[in-house]
Amino acid sequence: MAGRDSELEEEACYADCDRCGTSLYVILRFRENVPERVVAIGREIDWPEGYSK
Ligand SMILES: [Zn+2]
Repeated sequence: MAGRDSELEEEACYADCDRCGTSLYVILRFRENVPERVVAIGREIDWPEGYSK
């Protein structure tokens, strides 16, 4: 399974709540450049360290 992990990538994206307009971050997991699932979501003010804005 060499190189398997290199196909996985996580990226933090900006989002806004449709209801109240709160600024959010969404961390998506990509597998071979295809978004696979949401890993985490939270307020933009709590943007997690280690993810580029
Ligand atoms: Zn909301």
